[in-house]
Amino acid sequence: MDHQLRRRALGARLEDLQVDALYVTRRPNVRYLTGFTGSAGQVLVAADASVFSTDGRYTEQSRHEVPDIERETYGGGVKASQLLAAHCERLGIERLGFQADELTVAAHGRLSEALDGVEMVGVDDLVGELRWIKDDEELHLLRRAQAATDDAFERILEALAVGVTERQIALELEHAMRRDGSDGLAFDSIVAFGESAAEPHHEPGHRALEEGDVIKLDFGAKVGGYHADMTRTVAFGEPAAELRKIHDIVRQSQQAGIDAVRAGVSGGEVDAVARAVIADAGYGERFTHGLGHGVGLEVHEGPSVGHEIDDVLPVGAVVTVEPGIYVPGLGGVRIEDMVEVTDDGCRVIGTASRELIEL
Ligand code: ZN
Ligand code: ZN
Repeated sequence: MDHQLRRRALGARLEDLQVDALYVTRRPNVRYLTGFTGSAGQVLVAADASVFSTDGRYTEQSRHEVPDIERETYGGGVKASQLLAAHCERLGIERLGFQADELTVAAHGRLSEALDGVEMVGVDDLVGELRWIKDDEELHLLRRAQAATDDAFERILEALAVGVTERQIALELEHAMRRDGSDGLAFDSIVAFGESAAEPHHEPGHRALEEGDVIKLDFGAKVGGYHADMTRTVAFGEPAAELRKIHDIVRQSQQAGIDAVRAGVSGGEVDAVARAVIADAGYGERFTHGLGHGVGLEVHEGPSVGHEIDDVLPVGAVVTVEPGIYVPGLGGVRIEDMVEVTDDGCRVIGTASRELIEL
């Protein structure tokens, strides 16, 4: 990954924010700018200099992961805020930006006290916005994560049998993804049988699979820090006629959403197109969440795709398209895929069938 290029892109935006440097503390943002994967790290980015800091647990790890910028370790009597103050003085930083929705009041207080004479300026999540557009290496990792997810889906279809429980299937999914090259789970898998599928985010329990159930699986693998996110709803035996109908509506809604994705449209516009298909079929009230979200170093990130969202999709963004219909007592259907935004449309990253699979 070219972390230096990313820091330069950020450095070039500092003037617009009217700050001399940005103090980045949010974990995925620090990773994006430096490659550091540990739990405690910060990076100070000025137009022509960057300084990474971490605590004593990560001195060695950061030597490998962050070889290309100045590094410092705090702890043992040396405070992170003192180091920061020294760098601000050395680099002539008078106005220091920080992400307003990230720093706690307590941390802000500590920094303000240490940074005598430096003005602290709360700014939006600029790094998060840079992360909307994936470079080739990020796209490669997302595709690998999706490939492991697709493979696990194929395997899990064979594990579905009368009497198996939601939790067993969740465990099988994890095994399958790890075998297929995943570093871990992108998030706790959702496995919902029958009426449980009416809950959009059902936690797998001891419900045993029965003939006629729908099975909703929302899961994803993680490769190199990048997350996959996919949902499929399949039928075990003959599903209720209404569920078959609902699957067909959701399938059409998802296709309409995918067809509406292209660079320059807003998340709200894409959501409206997919939502209209469900509303026209009489299930508008049963589609109770936004259509999708960006995905990358976090499983939920920008740009957002939902009702009246004005995030404009750029070329290279990766977002999910995931309409659903949930009917209490009966069950529910969601179909979700990650798509890569292109100039004139989008590319679906996964390969699993979106038709109703009947086992
Ligand atoms: Zn999902
Ligand atoms: Zn999702």
